[in-house]
Amino acid sequence: MPTTELHYINEIARIRELVRLYNNSVPEQVKAVFNDIKGLSLFDVEIQLYIELARYYSTVQANYNRAFEEIENAVSLLPNTQNILLNAKVIRIKGTILYYRNQLADAQGAFRQAIATLEQLPITDEVLIETGENYLQLALLHKVTEFRNVRKQMAQTALDFFTRAKYEQGLGRCYTIFASIFFTEENYTQALETHQKALLIHERTQNKQGIAVALNNIGSCYRELGDNERAIDFLQRSLVLKLELGNPNNIANSHVHLAEYYSHLNDLERAIEEFTKALQIFEKIGNKVELSFVYNSISEVLEKKGEYSSALSNLRKYNEIQRELFSFEKNNAIAEALAKYEIDKRDKEAELLRQKSAEIEEYAHKLEVSNRELEQYAHVASHDLKEPLRMIGSYIGLLHKRLEGRLNEEEIQFMSFVLDGTRRMDTLISDLLEYSKLNKAPKLQSVNLFDVVQLVKQNVTATNNQVSCNGNFTVTADHTLILQLFQNLISNGLKYNTSQCPTVDVRMELSDTQLLINFTDNGIGVPAQHRDRIFEIFKRLHSKEQYSGSGIGLAISKKIVEYFKGKLTVADNPEGGSIFTVSLPASMVIK
Ligand code: ADP
Repeated sequence: MPTTELHYINEIARIRELVRLYNNSVPEQVKAVFNDIKGLSLFDVEIQLYIELARYYSTVQANYNRAFEEIENAVSLLPNTQNILLNAKVIRIKGTILYYRNQLADAQGAFRQAIATLEQLPITDEVLIETGENYLQLALLHKVTEFRNVRKQMAQTALDFFTRAKYEQGLGRCYTIFASIFFTEENYTQALETHQKALLIHERTQNKQGIAVALNNIGSCYRELGDNERAIDFLQRSLVLKLELGNPNNIANSHVHLAEYYSHLNDLERAIEEFTKALQIFEKIGNKVELSFVYNSISEVLEKKGEYSSALSNLRKYNEIQRELFSFEKNNAIAEALAKYEIDKRDKEAELLRQKSAEIEEYAHKLEVSNRELEQYAHVASHDLKEPLRMIGSYIGLLHKRLEGRLNEEEIQFMSFVLDGTRRMDTLISDLLEYSKLNKAPKLQSVNLFDVVQLVKQNVTATNNQVSCNGNFTVTADHTLILQLFQNLISNGLKYNTSQCPTVDVRMELSDTQLLINFTDNGIGVPAQHRDRIFEIFKRLHSKEQYSGSGIGLAISKKIVEYFKGKLTVADNPEGGSIFTVSLPASMVIK
């Protein structure tokens, strides 16, 4: 970079600092630099000088017409620069000035244009900050519209950009917006906390304007929270600081806060006095947005005083300005831009949803295929395994017969092990086949559960003393599956049981949401550490010698219950034994 350009970059930084400090020598200093660079074609430097001048007239002098002229000068030079970031900045500042000139729709257009311009650039901290500034301005703009949600959204977007760039000053200003939204929502404690957070940041970044604004807002929060002493202290400190800084807009704003304070204390004379001070300033600098709000507030105070006709005339003024600001086209333009924003957002969300549901569909399809495969696999495997098994079984049987009388005791025992093994394997395969069949769609019919228990009793040849049933509900389900479920649970209760008289008590209870069916036995119980394992396929806690079985009953039971969107659990029976609980959705019950 040539040294001359570097020199001017430093000059501009110095002038920017002067603007920040509300120094009145800015126009002079800018003029000096302009003289210096005459004829050098340093367009970027010229644009930046116009920016600083525009910022000076708008923030320090609140002279928005003059500020507008200066920023238009910068705009006219834009064709001479390649610097896209600078271009976006000029448009954003023009937007801010348009806002102060009450051209709300144009201002919004400028911020949107600046954002679009920035989107062409690779992401750097500077780009993030500049983009955040535009969203922040959009949030401020929506102070005057009804769209509080948009305001929040814009401030949140600004916050995200500033956070990514670790730009503290910007974060502070975002907090101010959030806090004022809390305030409007009458959430004063949170408003206070958030303004205090903003104040800390403004102090750290030495943003005096920010400090003054925060003091004001904190004062008003205290007022709402009933701490009048603190309130007036903060409000006055704010005014002192603002008078020192000199921006008329902000000074007027302090008067508004003070007026609201007095109105709150019912000191209506002083309230009107303060409002009038604010009114005069806003009128002078032509800030119609704020002016209208003051008219409205004055009218409220006058109404409290019982001066109805003056109240009415102030209310009329408020309405007039509001109508003017929100003339049909402007309001329309804002609504249109908003609608576009909402549509863009919805389009993006819809696209995301489309992607998601396509993913889910694909997943479901894969799952279906793999389930079908698994089902076929289990079916085929068990069928095909049975064939050679039957052969082993028959030939061992044959051998056994042929060799009868010629085998010694040990050999006979070996032979019986082999036969036993084949029988066990045959059961396992049958069970597996049974389990794989459960994937088929069940047949839905009405099933009376009391009748099912009676049927189980016949099947397992149990007496009334052994199996009792309380409750009589009819559900929509598959009769075969429910019978299988009840039979597994009841027969287990009788089987894993060493008491003199094994019993299983079936009890049903219907609540709003579910039908609970408890199977309570007086058996050996299930140790707590094994309660999950027993529902797994082929998992058993005992040897075949202790209790017969293959360990598939509960796995099948669980699958049946889950098919009907229910749950199967086991717990201790406090009187010894266990309680297996089936819970089914109440919607299955036929009333
Ligand atoms: P199986 O009875 O064929 O072994 P299950 O799947 O029905 O298979 O049961 C798995 C295991 O859970 C059993 O081996 C047994 O240890 C335990 N169990 C099941 N029901 C009961 C019960 N009512 N009381 C105690 N233990 C039980």
